[in-house]
Amino acid sequence: MQRREFRKIPFIDLVRQYESIRNEIDSAISSVIERGKFILGENVEQFEKEFARFCGVKYGVGVGSGADALLFALKALGIEAGDEVITTPFTFVATVNAIVLAGAKPVFVDIDPDTYCLSPDKLKKAITSRTKAIIPVHLYGHPCDMKPILEVAEEYGLYVVEDACQAHGAQYYGAKAGSFGICGCFSFYPTKNLGAFGDGGMVVTNDYELAERIRLLRAQGQRSRYSYEVIGYTSRLDEIQAAILRVKLRHLEEWNEKRREKARTYSKLLSELDLVLPIEKNYAKHVYHLYVIRCSRRDELVTFLNQNGVEALIHYPTPIHLASGYRFMRYSSNSFPVSERCAKEVVSLPIFPELSVEEVEYVCSLLEEFLNSY
Ligand SMILES: *Cc1c(COP(=O)(O)O)cnc(C)c1O
Repeated sequence: MQRREFRKIPFIDLVRQYESIRNEIDSAISSVIERGKFILGENVEQFEKEFARFCGVKYGVGVGSGADALLFALKALGIEAGDEVITTPFTFVATVNAIVLAGAKPVFVDIDPDTYCLSPDKLKKAITSRTKAIIPVHLYGHPCDMKPILEVAEEYGLYVVEDACQAHGAQYYGAKAGSFGICGCFSFYPTKNLGAFGDGGMVVTNDYELAERIRLLRAQGQRSRYSYEVIGYTSRLDEIQAAILRVKLRHLEEWNEKRREKARTYSKLLSELDLVLPIEKNYAKHVYHLYVIRCSRRDELVTFLNQNGVEALIHYPTPIHLASGYRFMRYSSNSFPVSERCAKEVVSLPIFPELSVEEVEYVCSLLEEFLNSY
């Protein structure tokens, strides 16, 4: 075998991004510190408006994480014990945890194998008299097929709460993820397309009352000091994170375009190999939070990539209905065959805006070597 130069390619490199905007970020952070207001100040208020406008929605409520955005959305909609909420088992666990923490029962619907998103064809069968809401997850940065989901929701009187935690700026027929349901939930976890320097999240909505109820939930139920209207939490986006996110929001479209360019390069270089590549439906603008391929010898491939310096990850190896924490739901394997099969085959390759073409080429050369010689 030919000897190849050994390189290290991280899954994501947040330092490269910081270096490209260091001055803007440093001055944004300093100005918060110099003003001395750290919770619910001007930056949070402005960022809520700016991010809501970016999504094409009226209101934004900054919270402590994407998980809390989902939990507060469900609680503010009145979802409680005895209710059922539909989502897919092929997601980050926070989607499902939010349902359980709100007191409701998660009901799963399998995914579409092309987009990895909730399959609208299978939705109706999961609806019962207790169903209150649907949480479609725009997984990996590709939007769900919202039209049929919204039609079913309308027909049965269900809320649609979008999990847009991986889809900042993704579009469905030209409108942004997060703008279709009663509300959209976002995470600003550092590795997301729009990431803070710590945890953060937001709910965006056109519903003023809903936004107000979430404002109560994030701050111990207080509208003004010492008026305790509901039982709430301490989970706010803080001023330093909001100041950082305001700077980064100005770069988001450009960064998403760069992700799309890397994805195009990957897809071109990998097109002849025996792999399933990501697709972008005609209705979609994919923002490639993750570039996920499928390979029948997935575990060997991940080991091979890692041994050769390329950090490849798996999103997600365990569908939630088979997770040990969800054993109480008594699902057996083969309950959601598409999710289970994808969980065995998916591999996420490094992708971030600052990844170089040479790095993409190197990753692809390793994939080619693996598929041709093992
Ligand atoms: C990241 C993520 C969340 C949770 O966000 P946190 O900010 O980490 O709480 C929820 N759902 C999906 C699909 C995610 O990717």
